[in-house]
Amino acid sequence: MNKLIIAIVMSSFISAQCLGDVNDDYVINIQDVVLVVNNIIYSTDIDYSADINEDGYVNVLDIVSITNIILNGENTCVYPIDIIYNVHESLPDDWVSEFYTIIDNLFELIPANQNYFDELTIYAWNSSVQDPYPGIEGGQYIGGSDDGLIMVLEIYDMEFVWDHMHRYSVIAHEYFHVYQLSINEPMNQPNGQYNPNGFDIKWLIEGTAAVFESMYVQNYYNYNYFINDLIYADLSYSIHTNPSIFESYNSDNIDINGSSSVFMVLVLAKELIELGHSEEDAFKMIFKDFMLTGAKNSNWEDYFLEIFGFSVYEFYTSLQLYPLNLQDVVPSSSLSLQQIFN
Ligand SMILES: [Zn+2]
Repeated sequence: MNKLIIAIVMSSFISAQCLGDVNDDYVINIQDVVLVVNNIIYSTDIDYSADINEDGYVNVLDIVSITNIILNGENTCVYPIDIIYNVHESLPDDWVSEFYTIIDNLFELIPANQNYFDELTIYAWNSSVQDPYPGIEGGQYIGGSDDGLIMVLEIYDMEFVWDHMHRYSVIAHEYFHVYQLSINEPMNQPNGQYNPNGFDIKWLIEGTAAVFESMYVQNYYNYNYFINDLIYADLSYSIHTNPSIFESYNSDNIDINGSSSVFMVLVLAKELIELGHSEEDAFKMIFKDFMLTGAKNSNWEDYFLEIFGFSVYEFYTSLQLYPLNLQDVVPSSSLSLQQIFN
């Protein structure tokens, strides 16, 4: 029996990622207290997941700490999602190694936790080959499947030939959607037709992902994606006359490369800065705080007002004050994602 307990404690030492959840079962309860006690009595090694107060010892103070966690109801361990990789041999080696680096960077910056889904399966290949994974349609998107969330990265062959930054930025773009899905439950609901309990306001979802990916390559490659790429897509006059059309994915045909959605997100940041928020706070509110409200299609305008301090209508009206020129609203190139998300 003692051996079994010690074995459990030892294995939790390897896998536990949450202080107090010694047996790694996603809840902190009496079983964890028992394991801490056993660690004190039977084990000569420190099980670091049992060192609740992180003082380097497992002792009675840890029993007090874990009991407090249970009594205070702070039983909120969340675990990062599992990522399953399918990276095809058709991709160049240097892209593959950069791909893993980018995913690591992103996961550190904005971890996707197991709030609404537990795992993500990534399929990546070079467009020069036939779609290699049965049942996985080509393209670049996040989708649902019978097995959970999937990320598809069919990278255009020409982007390798031309060393186009998009071959990397698309990873940040799609991962940002995974992050959004991990913090906003309604986004996980079925979409495609109007669902009051879903969330698919396009300019807020796609505009933010495109701004995020541009900031990523600015931060990590010192490359200004706004000025070098996005600026070449014409901005739609509808931004001034009828911006609500960008709430729907049906606007894709006039939102070339999502640049009109990007423009709207950047103007939103400018308006927040105008109100006295710092630039990093403005983007944190847009990228994170708004999504964390649980905004859904039926009430997002209420949360918009609550988080940003002006109504959607007021914001849409203020868009008319901004000439349709992306260059005027691009964020500072010195702005770092670390600042925004810390
Ligand atoms: Zn997208």
